[in-house]
Amino acid sequence: MEIKRLDSMQTLVSLCKRRGFVFQSSEIYGGLNSCWDYGPLGVELKRNIKNAWWRTMTRRRDVVGLDASILMHPNVWKASGHVDNFSDPMVDCKDCKARHRADHLEEMVCPKCGSKNLTEPRSFNLMFQTHMGPVADEGSVVYLRPETAQGIFVNFENVQSTQRMKVPFGIAQIGKSFRNEITPGNFIFRTREFEQMEMQYFVEPGQDSKFYEEWRETRLQFYKDIGLNTDNIRFHPHGEGELAHYAKEAGDFEYNLPIGWQELEGIHNRGDFDLTQHQNLSGKSLEYFDQAQNKKYIPYVIETAIGCDRLALTVLCDAYREEHTEKEGKKDVRVVFGFSPLLAPVQVAVLPLSKKPDLQEVCYKIDDDLRDKALRVQYDESQSIGKRYRRQDEIGTPFCVTVDFETLEDKAVTVRHRDSMKQERVAIDQLNNYLKENLRNFQS
Ligand code: ATP
Repeated sequence: MEIKRLDSMQTLVSLCKRRGFVFQSSEIYGGLNSCWDYGPLGVELKRNIKNAWWRTMTRRRDVVGLDASILMHPNVWKASGHVDNFSDPMVDCKDCKARHRADHLEEMVCPKCGSKNLTEPRSFNLMFQTHMGPVADEGSVVYLRPETAQGIFVNFENVQSTQRMKVPFGIAQIGKSFRNEITPGNFIFRTREFEQMEMQYFVEPGQDSKFYEEWRETRLQFYKDIGLNTDNIRFHPHGEGELAHYAKEAGDFEYNLPIGWQELEGIHNRGDFDLTQHQNLSGKSLEYFDQAQNKKYIPYVIETAIGCDRLALTVLCDAYREEHTEKEGKKDVRVVFGFSPLLAPVQVAVLPLSKKPDLQEVCYKIDDDLRDKALRVQYDESQSIGKRYRRQDEIGTPFCVTVDFETLEDKAVTVRHRDSMKQERVAIDQLNNYLKENLRNFQS
């Protein structure tokens, strides 16, 4: 058997559409560039990813959650530096009219047509503007947040004092962000509307480098826990020229996608930049009083920032495999999403061998029971059992439970494992325990 990884984004886009993971936004109107809708399976996958992140962050004693609003006071973005600095250099090709980010070009050559006839780079602010209230004048300008982090900084004092948090502690948030990207694309890799999962960890100055290292390790462990193949993950520390205006030290976890190594998550030591800026512009003290040491300081911040959609794309690419086999001159390809059961949109499929009412009835009972036990279940009775198994492989379902005519006699079902395709006979009254045990012991 030959196993192939995903080698083209187009294959993934088609599969995601065909199986109901991701659709183009407003498709019946011809779509809207770079906007995507998560279908029934995609929304489950994304929710499982968010839950896994939320659990790993906020079930710690030292990290609490937050859900700040998307629209914020315009001064937030003045203080953060976004009004002045949140821009990318844009160039246009005078020949083919393609638009590019100058910092993404190898040399000043158009990657589309090879022309060197490009405009001078112009700075383009990536924040989406809108107006609050009925009058669209300068005084009513507000921005759609380009990152969730600032919602955390401006609530630093609220969270610290109400929850009696002691430094070091963190605040975690999941939410939508918006960037008017010059060159969105590659499916859900870079979009103008996306969801971020960010955590800001407040530490005593001087302790920052230690915690920066610690969070790097913690995040790598998370990738392992959700089943990513870490051979395809590397850490790229930012050199002097790459550091953002706020960063003391920073780096990205990168993943080897079909489009090459790309940023998945940023780990940033932001120093006291953000809290100091907000303290200065708001006039409100954001100092922390350290009781144990009897001193006041503005904490330093270690940030972990990952795009939920980008992680969903990474999980999809990582889990995809094609198993090519040849038997008696007949070629076969089995497409599998080898998701960890933690993330799989469907954990168990319940399948009657035929549409006979006796079998359906047993299936419904099993289906109800497994749903009651909080498993993610799909009932499927259309087409042959072989086709249904393949369909479940293609959406990454770890286990299929088949009810056949023997079931009516022996009160047992066949459980088929996605990865090994091994089949086992299991008594119905043992099914729940069997699945729980196997989901727990799962090796992806
Ligand atoms: P880039 O340089 O690629 O534009 P960035 O370094 O500005 O990205 P951050 O501001 O550090 O990105 O954002 C943190 C994370 O949010 C990124 O690692 C990525 O996972 C995600 N992200 C950022 N921009 C987008 C986008 N336009 N679409 C999807 N995810 C994004």
